[in-house]
Amino acid sequence: LSSADYLPEKRRIDIGNISIGGNTRNTMIIGGPCSVESEEQITASARLMKELDISTLRAGCYKPRTSPYSFQGLGDEGLRLLDKMRSEYGLNIITEVRDSTHVDEVIETTDIVQIGAKAMYDQGILRTCGRSNKPILIKRGFGSTLQEFVQAAEFVLSAGNDNVILCERGIRTFETKTRFTLDLCGVAYLKEYTNLPIIVDPSHAMGYRYGVPDLARAATAMGVDGLLIEVHPDPSVAKSDASQQLDHDAFRELIGTLRPIAQAIGYNI
Ligand code: PEP
Ligand code: MN
Repeated sequence: LSSADYLPEKRRIDIGNISIGGNTRNTMIIGGPCSVESEEQITASARLMKELDISTLRAGCYKPRTSPYSFQGLGDEGLRLLDKMRSEYGLNIITEVRDSTHVDEVIETTDIVQIGAKAMYDQGILRTCGRSNKPILIKRGFGSTLQEFVQAAEFVLSAGNDNVILCERGIRTFETKTRFTLDLCGVAYLKEYTNLPIIVDPSHAMGYRYGVPDLARAATAMGVDGLLIEVHPDPSVAKSDASQQLDHDAFRELIGTLRPIAQAIGYNI
């Protein structure tokens, strides 16, 4: 169902008042902190998105951390705060499901449901998301082949949900100087051989803020359907992914440089 042989036109997905895929040529920016940490913090993020005319705010509530001793997210309280940002600022909201215990609440509350890299193989999540019609953003597992990535999407599509977005977020290679390796070859492959919208996440791929703007510009120049970028009002105190989040000024500057790049290849940000 995801292949360009089955359906040569790109699938179009409508998210609130923005659409991606099809022949829209929109590069949707998804911005926000790694985690919802407090009302004050997420309000600052929502205001930044509003200021820059960015439609979609993302932050994690149920964090799938590698260690059980790290910050695990605010859970349901975080979801309530995102819902508040949605109604106060008119933003689309995206958050991640960690497991199938809260997937129904996340589907109900958000505009896009994120299935994280670590959950890409979770069939309970994939099948439940397949039974809704909410847009589902699936992140590529960092040890997954493109074939496995596309097969995860097939679980959602074949259960009846046509609204699937793929997100490349870096894979694990022999290289350890950067956190992961952003697979832009994989992005080119997915553009050529699938009919699904493709989003690139330079933040988790790089793991360090210094490289994020360059990777974001490279992905934009390829013509992608969106970018997922982490930004925090004060990255030095972030409770997760502190080393990769941009501060507000760096994010403003980055968005300013992305818009002409998108425009040069006939895309809009
Ligand atoms: C995230 O998006 O905050 C996240 C945990 O990313 P990933 O699932 O790609 O590791
Ligand atoms: Mn993160």
